[in-house]
Amino acid sequence: MSQETKALFIIFGATGDLAHRKLYPALFRLYQKGYLQETFAVVGTARREWSNDYYQEVVLDSIAKMNGSEEEKESFSSHFRYQSHNVKDTEHYHTLRKLADQLDEEYGLEGNRIFYLSMSPSFFGTITSHLKEQSLVTERGFSRVVIEKPFGTDFDSSKELNDEINASFDEDQLYRIDHYLGKEMVQNILALRFSNRLIENSWNKESISNIQITLSEKLGVEERGEYYDKSGALRDMVQNHVLQVVSLLTMNKPEVFDTDTIRQEKMAVLEALKKPVVSFDEKTDFVRGQYAQSTDGKVKAYREEDKVNTETTTETFVAGQIAIHNDTWEGVPLYIRTGKRLAEKTTRVDVVFKETDSSLFNDQPSVLTIHINPEEGFELTVNNKQVGPGMNLEPITLSGLRSDEETEKSPEAYEKLILDVLQGDETHFAHWGEVATSWKYVDQIRKVWDCNTESIPFYPALSMGPEESDQLLAQNGHEWVYKG
Ligand code: NAD
Repeated sequence: MSQETKALFIIFGATGDLAHRKLYPALFRLYQKGYLQETFAVVGTARREWSNDYYQEVVLDSIAKMNGSEEEKESFSSHFRYQSHNVKDTEHYHTLRKLADQLDEEYGLEGNRIFYLSMSPSFFGTITSHLKEQSLVTERGFSRVVIEKPFGTDFDSSKELNDEINASFDEDQLYRIDHYLGKEMVQNILALRFSNRLIENSWNKESISNIQITLSEKLGVEERGEYYDKSGALRDMVQNHVLQVVSLLTMNKPEVFDTDTIRQEKMAVLEALKKPVVSFDEKTDFVRGQYAQSTDGKVKAYREEDKVNTETTTETFVAGQIAIHNDTWEGVPLYIRTGKRLAEKTTRVDVVFKETDSSLFNDQPSVLTIHINPEEGFELTVNNKQVGPGMNLEPITLSGLRSDEETEKSPEAYEKLILDVLQGDETHFAHWGEVATSWKYVDQIRKVWDCNTESIPFYPALSMGPEESDQLLAQNGHEWVYKG
């Protein structure tokens, strides 16, 4: 059995979508694996008046389809309590503290507390200051705060939010979730890069022509139209997930494999990003788009979605080229694209190597593809001599893709990240420095786009984005490896 950590979880926003879809199932998997056993308890809080029994039913419902006996599920859910709570009401924190102290005693939790803020960020400052002032933070054990995205809407608002939270908690108590950092294959990027001399030695401008990152979703905005229309793809995906993946792909080798050193290396590369050129003509590093109806008319346009302004110019697609100013990456474009209602749901990285510099063969660039989701693993496409006479080439693909069974078994991002919080490992969370630098980068693009809210390029739903995205690469003589 795994080592158990004693802790009380207090979940703010316990009646919400994220708690139901992700948090309870993740906690159950940790329970099944023995990371949580007897010495843990969960207090769910939200405005609604729920009883403990009803709350436990809700928790059982969220794990109903998972493997495990009824008895196991019942005993897991018996650790859950519900407290109706308005986060703005000071009195409620007194009641919450009494319940927390009582559970601490009952389960022998030694004062360890994890406050999970699964609510709108507009409440983060209010909650954290009350937690401190109403003494929910204990002197005895650890107190950690888990924060969901979005962390601000630009640099200024994220700094304000950070200052508010920092008034009550130190940076080393904060765990800012970027669920991409919990994905198995995102974590594998560093292993792949730094444990294979073959890859390590060619991971630079001498050997690599360009790197392409695709985070595409097939779904539209679903019920999140109201939030999304204010956010757009640049804020929702690029500032956090995309730039985190960029930093892992391009950071220098850390001297030691610890949180601080990895963070320093990630920061160094984020700080080396060149100022993007953004305009509405051909000389631009970033282009945007919005989905229109699909060509067969079966899928509706973004402007027809619920709670979306009918004349909105919010982008549902972004493609860009990112340039890094350092010795390793000078001149190597990192192409990124992300969007909704694209042809397929996929997260992948295609590393395109340079052609050989001899004229012996008519060779094609080798490509290393890192499949992050839904497939996991990697593929390497190289040139190979065709069987038979002559020296003609054909590409072959060496596959390191995991089987469906292995992929199924790989822990879900939230499970891994919550375990990290329990164990106090901050490596796979977004540090303030990274968040701030990423916002500053993205703000430069936003500033230009916000000057033109009259028009936006459209793309048919279920395509791979507007043609401007292909042109972006074509101007450098490149093309997207993944065509959807
Ligand atoms: P949700 O709207 O479904 O739930 C919000 C929760 O906050 C509810 O439990 C509600 O009762 C509670 N709440 C609202 N006002 C309150 C108040 N004044 N006092 C007490 N409780 C109050 O939201 P969600 O989808 O669960 O998302 C939660 C957080 O996670 C948000 O920050 C969101 O951006 C982030 N997030 C969600 C997802 C997702 O898939 N749902 C993904 C990534 C990030």
